[in-house]
Amino acid sequence: MRNMYLTLPRLIVTVLFMFVSFIMTVLMMDKWGYGYIGGIIGFLLGLLVSYILFTVVVWLWRLLFLTLPSCKRGQCKSYKDYIWPKGTFFGRTRWGVYHCKCNCGDYYVRDGKRFMEVVSFPDGPLRPYKKLIGFRKWTDDSDATTIPPSSSSGKEHC
Ligand SMILES: [Zn+2]
Repeated sequence: MRNMYLTLPRLIVTVLFMFVSFIMTVLMMDKWGYGYIGGIIGFLLGLLVSYILFTVVVWLWRLLFLTLPSCKRGQCKSYKDYIWPKGTFFGRTRWGVYHCKCNCGDYYVRDGKRFMEVVSFPDGPLRPYKKLIGFRKWTDDSDATTIPPSSSSGKEHC
């Protein structure tokens, strides 16, 4: 299961690139009658088009799912100020669970709609900090109970 996180997005991207390039090649060569040169141009155009599509999809994905509040010290304002563990897709470790570290050096975990601070990295308790209440809108969640390390769901699998 774990490998799927890495290979599935790559597979989709590869298929998308190949599919669009193939369609463009066929269109240029057969349908529009540009021959082999047209086919090569079509292939390159296909790559360009799929690259643009891919960029737009990643951008939309970031806009919709990659919303992070400003950090506790107020220094880091957006996802650009956070870094992710190596080898993860924006810090994703499980479905809906993201690990990240802000510029100040503090560690956070986003689990669904909750954004929690890792009190002592890596296995310390999770202290609730912010909660997602709407489209890219965060509210204070610090009154909620701190989640002890033992019940920090699935963290041991990371
Ligand atoms: Zn910070």
